[in-house]
Amino acid sequence: MSNQDTPFIFGELEVGNYIWLTLTNLCNIHCKYCFNYVLNNNQAMSHELATSIIKSHLQALDENQSDFFNIIYFGGEPTLNQKALLSCIDFFIENDINCRQCIMTNGIFKQSLFNNLINKDIDFQISFDGAGSNLRYNKNQKRLIYDETVEGIEKLCLAGESVKVRATIHKDNTNNIPSLVEFCANLGVSKLMCSPICDFGDSNKNKVRQPDVNEYVDNMLIANELSHQLGVKFEIKGEQYLSNLKSQKLNVPFVWLPDGYVAMTITYASSKAKGAEKIIIGHYDESQHKIILNKQTIAQMKTNFEKNYKIHCSECPLKESCRGALHFTPFATDTFIYERDNYFCQIALKMTQEFPS
Ligand code: SF4
Repeated sequence: MSNQDTPFIFGELEVGNYIWLTLTNLCNIHCKYCFNYVLNNNQAMSHELATSIIKSHLQALDENQSDFFNIIYFGGEPTLNQKALLSCIDFFIENDINCRQCIMTNGIFKQSLFNNLINKDIDFQISFDGAGSNLRYNKNQKRLIYDETVEGIEKLCLAGESVKVRATIHKDNTNNIPSLVEFCANLGVSKLMCSPICDFGDSNKNKVRQPDVNEYVDNMLIANELSHQLGVKFEIKGEQYLSNLKSQKLNVPFVWLPDGYVAMTITYASSKAKGAEKIIIGHYDESQHKIILNKQTIAQMKTNFEKNYKIHCSECPLKESCRGALHFTPFATDTFIYERDNYFCQIALKMTQEFPS
């Protein structure tokens, strides 16, 4: 694999039209499988820093290559940093920037913020896993969180907003997948996606187990049938998804942490977390008003990726289509653990077999 053939564009500001802003790493609930829960010393991004980062990206973009910008507001729970969130949203609207804005939320936020967010052409991606084997708790882990999220989803749908439900699937809620399709159809949610948990962070600490590969894919098959009947757009990562990967470069997002460091993945929500140094590729310099990237780190990550692709993907039947993209982060940071990470290759293999087109 030569540098040109790598399946991603990464660390290039002039084409970097896709960013994630971790507006805060504080959350108003605590899911037992969270991969980046920050228990103490929560941080919030200032609204000045958030808008400065956006402006710097827009200035660096080569408009001949991209005149479209994608931003995801992320956390923690991003709606807890209302000031920065609204500053960014209003900045895009006031400056008439061609931009897709998406909030990744658990759907639990105040009515006053709700009123400020609707009718602004924002995509809402709401985490919700269904009623069975729910592992979403309030902060002291004593009360299950369910009704609040359903209410949030309901309100957004009634207001005509674009809502996608994002379900996290573990061993004990795999059977929820078909009922999630029904849930979306009943509430008027147009899109649904499911992802198996990572064996990382709190899921590892709380011993939340990953779904059995066959059981997961069998439920995806049932849910897919149902989604056609009920008119819900259900995201399937089968053969077609991988073929699309093959024909395009993945634009790896710039993931900004609350203190102004930028990472190449959402693995950690704080630059202070143990291991976070492995994913950090630069920072925003407030005195120079610019983004400073660590070119050496980025070059090393590309070398790591190529090395690990050669080692771990040579025998894989998906190697031509996936090209290692599935393990971009562990390959690039040289932290791939076969026993942990190969699980997602098994899922991909089974999904392409069962969803050939
Ligand atoms: S599925 Fe796994 S082994 Fe196969 S190419 Fe992708 S990352 Fe490599």
